[in-house]
Amino acid sequence: AVPLVVAISTSVSAKHGLLIRNRTAFENSRNLTTIIFDKTGTLTKGEFGVTRFKSVAEGMEDKDLLAIAAALENSSEHPIAAGIVRKSKELELKLGKPENFQNITGMGIKANLDGKEISILSPGGLKQKEIEQPEGAFKTEDETVVFVLSDEKLIGYIALADEIRDESQEAINTLKKHGIKILMATGDNEIVAKAVSETLGLDGYYSEVLPEDKQKIIKDLQAKGEFVAMTGDGVNDAPALAQADVGIAVGSGTDVAAETADIILVNSNPIDIANLILFGTATYKKMM
Ligand code: ADP
Ligand code: MG
Repeated sequence: AVPLVVAISTSVSAKHGLLIRNRTAFENSRNLTTIIFDKTGTLTKGEFGVTRFKSVAEGMEDKDLLAIAAALENSSEHPIAAGIVRKSKELELKLGKPENFQNITGMGIKANLDGKEISILSPGGLKQKEIEQPEGAFKTEDETVVFVLSDEKLIGYIALADEIRDESQEAINTLKKHGIKILMATGDNEIVAKAVSETLGLDGYYSEVLPEDKQKIIKDLQAKGEFVAMTGDGVNDAPALAQADVGIAVGSGTDVAAETADIILVNSNPIDIANLILFGTATYKKMM
């Protein structure tokens, strides 16, 4: 039987854009000791604008590099993709038609274009291929940089900037007041991760995280006795959302993320996440 208070809270929560799939996990949110936020689109706005783009391939102009990248990004739903496509439109670049588009989970995308295999990768993805970052790729601490490869050879990079959401600080402060440790895990680079973490006063962060790492991060914390909530929005987040004691899928997200999460939040507003955790606490207290 469903305890009445929980049933009522569940219907109230629907009005707040909150869908509880696993009531036990929701009730367990009172035990939380740690929350791991994803960065892009949750703590930050997820609205990227291109700040710089550079070809490092002989005879290729910077604009050609951007056109190649934008041709692929047309098929991607990542916030980075929207920024790159927008820039190509501003510059009125003519884009080719890629074939065999694929997401490389948590690392980037790839497709065939004009007889070449093009990939666009995170710094972590580049590192995994043991390719060194070109000099000058990172200039400022608030830029996210992605790397463009043609047939596994680096041909250039694109820098983009995102912004911290106005609501993030308040959400972090609220959670901190309740003694919850706040961490961030992101596929983005070390410099950006550090800057966001320091600005918001987080207790720590993990950068250049690959999909399989997120689950392990949670396991390790749980082994130390931590009770862990995690937010995520992508396919790559599904194993970690399942591993977490409270898995929270945010934003429109993907179906895979939503299917493995305990709780689904329609908006990716971090204040909703803070409220949800406090709401779980209040619901439980009423039942006592
Ligand atoms: P996050 O949500 O923290 O950005 P993701 O797992 O969605 O984590 O992506 C990890 C990293 O992979 C991104 O930070 C970016 O560097 C790279 N990436 C993912 N998708 C794309 C894309 N469409 N274009 C370029 N880079 C991408
Ligand atoms: Mg993501």
